[in-house]
Formats: sequence, structure tokens, C-alpha cells
Amino acid sequence: MAHVTQKSKVLFDRALRVMIEGGSSPSRGPANYGAYPLFIARGEGACVYDVDGNRYVDWMMAYGALPLGHAHSRVVKAVSEGVTAGTLFAAATEIEVEVAEIIQQMVPGAERVRFANTGTEAAMAAVRLARGYTGKSKFIKFEGHYHGWYDDFLVNSHPQPIASIGHRNDPVRIADSSGLNRHALDDTIVVPWNDLRAVERAIESHRGEIAAVITEGIMANMGVIPPAPGYLQGLRELTRNNNILLILDETVTGFRIARGGCQEHYNVGADILTFAKALGAGLPVAAFAGRGEIMEALAWGGVLHYGTQNASRVGMLAARASLNELCRDDGVAFRHLWRIGEALRAGLQRVFKETGTPAIAQGVGPMLQILFTDRSAICDFRDFCGYVDRPRYQKLALELFRHGVYMSPSPALHSVSSLAHTDEHVAFTLEAVRSVLTHGQF
Ligand code: PMP
Repeated sequence: MAHVTQKSKVLFDRALRVMIEGGSSPSRGPANYGAYPLFIARGEGACVYDVDGNRYVDWMMAYGALPLGHAHSRVVKAVSEGVTAGTLFAAATEIEVEVAEIIQQMVPGAERVRFANTGTEAAMAAVRLARGYTGKSKFIKFEGHYHGWYDDFLVNSHPQPIASIGHRNDPVRIADSSGLNRHALDDTIVVPWNDLRAVERAIESHRGEIAAVITEGIMANMGVIPPAPGYLQGLRELTRNNNILLILDETVTGFRIARGGCQEHYNVGADILTFAKALGAGLPVAAFAGRGEIMEALAWGGVLHYGTQNASRVGMLAARASLNELCRDDGVAFRHLWRIGEALRAGLQRVFKETGTPAIAQGVGPMLQILFTDRSAICDFRDFCGYVDRPRYQKLALELFRHGVYMSPSPALHSVSSLAHTDEHVAFTLEAVRSVLTHGQF
């Protein structure tokens, strides 16, 4: 059947007359989607439907915000019933306490919890908290890691030509945006990831000045890059021995990799943790949490963190329904996320081999990305910039739309499994990939 997307095209033309690039984020515009993006009308389980009525098996899942899939009945029920009692009070509510208690139980080291709305806000607050608590201003941020669009983080987060990023001992700092506060990056130290020696060197060069190291547990914004064995524990030791706080950004990995995220899976023991995406089951809910003694610095606004929408009633209702579902029956949900993610990854590897495609499917459990490369693994930002053929991936993802499969067309973003995905969705996707690779120019 022909893949007709005429209504999306008409909507995009209309959108261009009122919004820059026709939308609210450059990732949803022509940079990733080519001529025009698909306009999505509804989602159900593992699938989304565009305005022309085409169905897609969705592996993007709202950038990972939907661990239960689209319109899960418990989330729908919780939100639709709950909303009749009011959407927001910006006052103390019992549901806020309850969700904080659930997080405290699920996540090791979450002694105290504070709610925010987005991953950006949570990471921004975490760094301010670390600075306020330690009285130091610098922090280490890794190449290729993304922690949101706060000025102080916006350096070396985008893929770049390998020739422009310099030597790994002295990375060339490339700001990700114009318009930053002129001094925003003065206290941001950029270091290659998966390399403990590089962190040691940075600590030596800035002795006594570093408040925190912030890291993703699994790199999720350069495809998917797992930590080298022992790396996160090594970071924990190095930071502890040097009186530096460790901030673990679990925006992507939280409530997905395990009940307690990377913190539990890799046994890290971070000081401050940040969460967003999967926490709100599609509503804007984020949180940061950590050691009570550190979180205490927020008291009386000593380290300021405000927000009209923090712990919104609707968001909390969605979060409670989703977290309870994820915790049901001794973690069967997490086992499902892993099983489906690994089945898709193994299947893709098979298809690449059979079709002679120079690509790998790299990931951890529920997260994976297709990387066109002749390497057997991509281990850091430098590998990603130097050895991954990004336009080729984008071409594949755009072709897959025609075959009813929705993966993010951004080569840097990844696919995730959800509770709604089944073996049939995996088989359907593999067939689509096989067909595109067999008939297209790859
Ligand atoms: N941290 C990480 C690791 C992320 O991947 C993202 C978003 N992709 C963020 C923070 C920012 O989250 P948000 O888009 O909710 O602001």
C-alpha cells in the first residue's frame, strides 16, 4: 500500500506560517525529518497513527517518556478521573508525598526528593545544589553528554566533524548555541567519557575548585554507549576521594534500566540523581533526589528552586499510576523491557549480517541505536564523531516510515522498548528493516 502523507504536508505548510521550522523544537523539524515531519494524531500501545491514518510501530516513545506505551489504561484512568478534582493547586498535596515515597523506595540513595518539570530543570537545579552545598563553582561535564539546554551545560553536546574536536587530552570546546551567558562555560570542564585517567587529570588541574561531576549513566544522546566495566564505580571512587559530588543524570535511564535505574544496575551510589522522561508517563514530571544532608541545602530557599508547576497534581497522578505498574509482580515490567530490547537488538544484528550491511545495533537492555560503522563497538563521543555514518542512518529511519516503523530519524537519538511492545512488533520491525536494506542503496 502506498504511504500517503499529504495531510502532514499540508499541516506543515500551515505550521511554517506560525512557528519557526513548523514546531517547538529543532529536533522535530527539517534537520531530522527532511521535507516535512509526520504529524501524529494518536497513540495506542506500541503504535502511533499519523493524520493520514498510517500506523507505525513506535520505537521512539516520546523520546523515552512512555515506558508503558501510549495511552496505557491505568495512566488514562488515573489522569482522567483525578483531573475532575482540579488540575493544580500549587499547594501541599498528599499525592506528591506518595510519589516521593515511591521514588524513595525504588531508588537507592534517594533519601530526599524534590519535583520539577523537565530533565533540564532537574539537572540545572542539581548543579546549583552541588555548587551551593560545596561552595565551589566548577563542574566536570563529559563530551557528548546532554543534560538539557541550561547555558552551563551547552558545550560539546552535538556531534561534530572529528577534525574539529581536538586531542582527547585537551578537547576543543565547542558551544552548542549562540546567545549563551558570556561566562556560562567558564566553570564547565569538558572531559572525554569512559576514561578515568582523563578525569584524574582534570581533578589535578583544578584541585579544590570542583563542586561536582555530572554524568549520564549510559550515554543516550550519541546513540547508546554503555559505560566501560567499572567506569562508573571508578568515577564514584575518584569523586569521593577528592571531595567532589557525583551527579548521575538518570533522565533517560531512570525507571527504565531497573527499578533504581543505573544507580542500581551498576551499583554506583551517586550523591545527587536527576529524573524526568519515564517518571511522568508522558506528562512533564521531573525530580532530583539524593543524600538528605545535601538536599537539606534547599531548605528556606538557601539554594533556590521554585516552580508553579512543580509536583502538579495531574503529573503526580500519572507518575503514581506508571510507577506502580512498573513495580508490579516483582519487576516483571523491567524484565519485559529488557527482553524486547534485546530481541530487537539481536534481530537487527542478524539482519545486518544477512544483508551485508556495515552497521551494528548497540545498546543496553531497553535502549538501542543502529550505528552505521565498520567498527564492532562505539565507545565514546570521539568514536561517534569519527566512525559513525550519520546520514546513512537518517536515510534508513526515513525509509522505515514508509514501512510502518517509527524510529527517531536523528542518528544521535535512540530507540526504546516499552511494556506495550511484543515479539510481533519486533518481527514486524525486523522485516521492515530487512526490506529497506535489501531494496535500498545502503
Ligand atoms: N538529560 C538527559 C540525559 C537527556 O537525555 C535529556 C533530554 N533528552 C535531558 C537531560 C533534558 O530533559 P528535558 O528534555 O526533559 O529537559
